[in-house]
Amino acid sequence: MNRSASLKSAVVRQPLTKSIPYCQHSIDDAEVKEVVSALNSNWLTMGPRTVEFEKKFAEYVGCQHAVAVSSCTAGLHLALRAAGVGAGDEVITTPLTFCATAEVVEYQAAKPVFIDVEPGSFNLDPSLIEEKITSRTKAIIPVHYGGIPCNMAAIKKIARQHDLAIIEDAAHASGTRIAHRKIGSFDNQAVFSFYPTKNMTTVEGGIITTNDSKLAETLKVLSLHGISKDAWKRYSSQGQWYYEIHQLGYKYNFTDLQAAIGLPQLRKLDEFNATRERYARIYIDALSDIPEFELPAWYAKYFDDLKEQGYTSSWHLFVLMLKLDRLSIGRNQFIEELKEKGIGTSVHFIPLHLQPFYAKKYGYTEGDFPVAEKIYSKIISLPLYPKLAHDEILYIIAVLRELAKKYRL
Ligand SMILES: *Cc1c(COP(=O)(O)O)cnc(C)c1O
Repeated sequence: MNRSASLKSAVVRQPLTKSIPYCQHSIDDAEVKEVVSALNSNWLTMGPRTVEFEKKFAEYVGCQHAVAVSSCTAGLHLALRAAGVGAGDEVITTPLTFCATAEVVEYQAAKPVFIDVEPGSFNLDPSLIEEKITSRTKAIIPVHYGGIPCNMAAIKKIARQHDLAIIEDAAHASGTRIAHRKIGSFDNQAVFSFYPTKNMTTVEGGIITTNDSKLAETLKVLSLHGISKDAWKRYSSQGQWYYEIHQLGYKYNFTDLQAAIGLPQLRKLDEFNATRERYARIYIDALSDIPEFELPAWYAKYFDDLKEQGYTSSWHLFVLMLKLDRLSIGRNQFIEELKEKGIGTSVHFIPLHLQPFYAKKYGYTEGDFPVAEKIYSKIISLPLYPKLAHDEILYIIAVLRELAKKYRL
């Protein structure tokens, strides 16, 4: 019996004794040892381990410089600031993202301008960018949704024509590739997240990648109060006490304790992502022929030919869509049913234009971004992480089959 045949006949066994969380990090002895060693060293905050982590991350993605910061949100803010986005400017982005993506635009007193997404990839639709460009447009923030790479070739072409900066929100995209090149290696800023739910973690933390050494220096300075030399140089034996402030900076620096977690995490990242992909494949094989379910079109294309062409996903998320017209219950109740069976899930994302803050401030209403809204109405993010056990995946699949059958119209 082949694997997919056995998955298709999977039945719900006794509920697992423990519930399956939506998300779990993968920390083991390697991280614990490195943190203890950092604690026993004479440097706790940004220092030699941070420098090493930045170097290793830059090597990993294949870029010249990486600047580690306190979070991806802080990194996105600095990236906008360094790109010269300021008061009254406009920044084009997707509404189908975490609030951080647009929040940082607001920090700069600029305006986030949303455009709708592609139905197959959930990424912003490049064909909708140009109609939103005004004399105030300064930048585009593409978000690689769930680790699926955006159509960067199309985005870059438009950005070049209109002299716009690109800042990739790569929070989901550690390890994602476009035509064999990793996200973060291109000639624009990309910002990654190391929050515990992401593909690798430093508890809290983020990193900005760039090939521009002047920009990297600016980011470093801005991340630590605008001080012209970082603390490591300032306090190290070769350093000196004197410094100058030439611009307003922030307290956004990384620490060596975060780097102590990040170094072993980075060494394991490819293995983590390979496991995620293997699990995604199991979900796809088992769920794609259930008439009540639908998967993002990108998933099938990925295994058909995209992967061969060097377009890889980090498989940060696995998104299941419900065919609501074939089910007698809605998405929210479906989530409740899964919860009752001990399965944690999530929804990525509530479109930002529907959030009261943005709706009120800019007059957005339902119907403004119909593709994003339609996606939002029917998506469920399933558990997908290296610590997930094989029998847990089989259990999740069996429960999903059972619920589809139970609520079939
Ligand atoms: C998690 C996330 C962020 C923010 O990351 P932090 O490190 O928590 O600041 C930004 N954008 C997206 C799309 C995210 O999912």
